[in-house]
Amino acid sequence: MALLEVKNVNKKYGSRAAMDDVSFNVEAGHIVGLIGPNGAGKSTTMRAITGLMSYSSGQITFDGQPVTFNNHSALDKIGNLIEYPAIYPNLTALEHLKLYAMDTKNPADFKELMHKTQIDGDNFGKRKAKNFSLGMKQRLGIAIALIRNPKLVILDEPMNGLDPQSVHDLRELIRSLAEEGVAFLISSHLLDELQKLVDDVVIINHGKIIQTATIETFFIHDQARWTFDTNDNESALQIAQDKKWQATIDNGQLQISGAENLQQVITAFNAANIQIQSLNTATGNLEKSLLDMLAADNQGE
Ligand code: ATP
Repeated sequence: MALLEVKNVNKKYGSRAAMDDVSFNVEAGHIVGLIGPNGAGKSTTMRAITGLMSYSSGQITFDGQPVTFNNHSALDKIGNLIEYPAIYPNLTALEHLKLYAMDTKNPADFKELMHKTQIDGDNFGKRKAKNFSLGMKQRLGIAIALIRNPKLVILDEPMNGLDPQSVHDLRELIRSLAEEGVAFLISSHLLDELQKLVDDVVIINHGKIIQTATIETFFIHDQARWTFDTNDNESALQIAQDKKWQATIDNGQLQISGAENLQQVITAFNAANIQIQSLNTATGNLEKSLLDMLAADNQGE
């Protein structure tokens, strides 16, 4: 049984379906990206999972227990950063953790949590929240989400407004927690960032799930392509065509796809004494795959 199971959940606002028969799973220790355009239903889905919102039909089960608006018992093991947690300007990070741990029987060790989320260095533990940068507030928000030692953490747009270093640090933090077995459900419009992080992807459009897949799936369909510059591009093109790879010369550069792997191409060029002067690899791209899927889905309406 998956850690989180969302089965055929429906939620309407008036006559508009914000969740239309939504089903997907989150496995323990997996990092799952929930992606889709504005208004697709991501926040609604996250709110339903955290029991913050009622839904009209379907089931949500977390760790074997039902989650509904009226049954929050499972939620002790779900941390979330959906709306900004209340951060009090005159409290330090440690004081926040103590405050949020007040109704928790077995909270995480504060010191360890502060170290993990990097809110212990540079006197940060002693500084008041009014002097925190956005990145620090975000890390504190995540520390608060982790206070109950959750098995699942739900993060809505956690990278928004963060500088590249803070995004990098956040990614490392999420990865290390996932290695300890914590699952994550993360929504983000920053797909380049998300694709570096997630194991699985759930794509939602107009309240409907249009795809659930592992991140690798997006790269398998989108074949690797290589761009070469060699000392003899014409001969290299001939070799590639003889091997039945797709090959063209574009702007003086030889582009090849369809070979099993890069080594195969290099070996073939070496055998013909062709010297490779430069090489670039273009891999799959979540953003392009998402746009293609949304275009296909919208066309089918
Ligand atoms: P974004 O990326 O812009 O945050 P989202 O994917 O999170 O979008 P939701 O916020 O879940 O989308 O909204 C899904 C749909 O439900 C939208 O059409 C939105 O207008 C509608 N909606 C959301 N909250 C409410 C509400 N409280 N009352 C009425 N309609 C709502």
